[in-house]
Amino acid sequence: MTFSGALTLTDLNDFITPSQACIKPVEEVKRPEDYKEPGAASTAIHVDSAGSYYEVTANGSLNGVSSSRKLETAQISLNDCLACSGCITSAESVLITMQSHEEVFNFLSTNPPRTSPEHRIPVLSISPQSLASLSASLSSSSSASISISQVLRRLRVICKNDLGFTHVYDTTFARHIALLEHAQEFSERRAGTGSAENKLPMLSSACPGWVCYAEKTHAEMLPFISRSKSPQQVMGTLVKHWLGEKWGKKPHQIYHVTVMPCYDKKLEASRQDFYNDLYSTRDVDCVITTGELELMMRARNSDLSASVPDEERHLSPSEPNFDDLPELLSHPGSSSGSYLQSLISEYLTDGSELSTRTIRNADYEEHVITNKSTGNVVFKGAKCYGFRNLQNVVRKVGKEAGVQIGRGAAGRLSSVRTKRNMSSRGGKNAEVEKDKAYDYVEVMACPSGCVNGGGQLKSQITRSQNQDNAEETSEARWGDKEWTKRVEEAYWHNLPTPPPSPSFSPVSAETYDPHVFANEFARRILVDLCKPHNGAESAWRTRMDADAEKMRASLFRTQYRAVESNVVGLQVNW
Ligand code: SF4
Repeated sequence: MTFSGALTLTDLNDFITPSQACIKPVEEVKRPEDYKEPGAASTAIHVDSAGSYYEVTANGSLNGVSSSRKLETAQISLNDCLACSGCITSAESVLITMQSHEEVFNFLSTNPPRTSPEHRIPVLSISPQSLASLSASLSSSSSASISISQVLRRLRVICKNDLGFTHVYDTTFARHIALLEHAQEFSERRAGTGSAENKLPMLSSACPGWVCYAEKTHAEMLPFISRSKSPQQVMGTLVKHWLGEKWGKKPHQIYHVTVMPCYDKKLEASRQDFYNDLYSTRDVDCVITTGELELMMRARNSDLSASVPDEERHLSPSEPNFDDLPELLSHPGSSSGSYLQSLISEYLTDGSELSTRTIRNADYEEHVITNKSTGNVVFKGAKCYGFRNLQNVVRKVGKEAGVQIGRGAAGRLSSVRTKRNMSSRGGKNAEVEKDKAYDYVEVMACPSGCVNGGGQLKSQITRSQNQDNAEETSEARWGDKEWTKRVEEAYWHNLPTPPPSPSFSPVSAETYDPHVFANEFARRILVDLCKPHNGAESAWRTRMDADAEKMRASLFRTQYRAVESNVVGLQVNW
């Protein structure tokens, strides 16, 4: 068996368990049913000195013509591997089994009553991509469109009344905090004030599909990946620590379930870094996909298409309320978290201009901010979705940073002078500057990003079938472009795509701006959790005293490590 050029044995830190065969079949030539190959029952496989495989008969002749037959070489492409879960380790498969909707049902049915000291508060947090998937699905089977805010309000009622959750949140405020911390980290890397191990370009870290891939096969990329926690894990911090404290509960007295667009988020929540040794609990106890949430509602005969009172209430409160987390904050940019856009907004000023270039397709774009008067590049970022584009970006980043790519955990800095080293940020030649290395890349494993995650609802596109306008709901395959577009539209909940940037003004009932309010809310949470000496003056981006910064790092950042192989590839029985 040989691998395509993109894969080599040294890249494999994970392996097919002995009981499992690779699902990629070798092409079989169809024979007539009554065909019987002479000597078929007594053939053997021989390997010659060149490594070619031959099927030979025991008596040395095959069909009276030749004594051996050279076997076809099986080819495995990256796409074959990504479409298969066969290579998942046994540890990962156990983790995924522990993170299922059945597990949530088990917990809810065995949770002692509230009066019991053993009772755990069940909390559910849902991602905006999951809300968009539910909204698109409901809208496609209804005559009216159902917005994600309506879906959220209906879910609150169902999850409380039918499923037994006490609190239901969306994760957009957690994303707001994740974006603030991520911008803080980027400015530290740029100024060289953060950890010396952290390098530019910074690569986003909210997609565990990409991060786990890097940990397993491209350890040399780890210094480039942002250390800021993803919205899911920031939500874990908010629920188990900040809200828990408000409720008078310790982290282990809360059971936190998140609803996410993909299975990879289960692996993220299971990382050792997100385990609290002191209380023997995780920030997120169980992750279910959008599809699993739908299964749970079906099992309870809950009807998400039925409206609930007040579901179209305007989102802005009549006055700022610091008791409930802000809901459904919209961040301009991408439907996968708006990471790149959050930095573009920071570096794009009146004196600069933004140019955007599609490299390969809509999933790989470059965004360059240039100083209008000097032509110097102020910021160069890219959006890169899907494994095919991602591999190109890994190669490009590696080349620019002088890192040897494709050696797994053995990847290391090479001694070659790099493009990044050679290009000066203040150079005069604009063309040279435009060729400079990336400062930032928003990386997502799924084509089209999180709206197209593998845990989302399947497409239900209603098509007009004939002139009588008879309609039929058909199941389209996962990844259907038309369907992804509809989920994307639902994600922006009827706002222009992307919505305009918010204006910033002081927080007051008269000039309510959700982002200004969210910034102030985030600041209060930071002060509550980190207790800085300069608490009153701090903002999220203010550098605090050393102890407070240490606490910030433990609550809002994470670490990565290369997955070291404990398997000698050649000993694996293929
Ligand atoms: Fe999950 Fe895909 Fe989003 Fe990555 S891009 S977080 S794998 S849905």
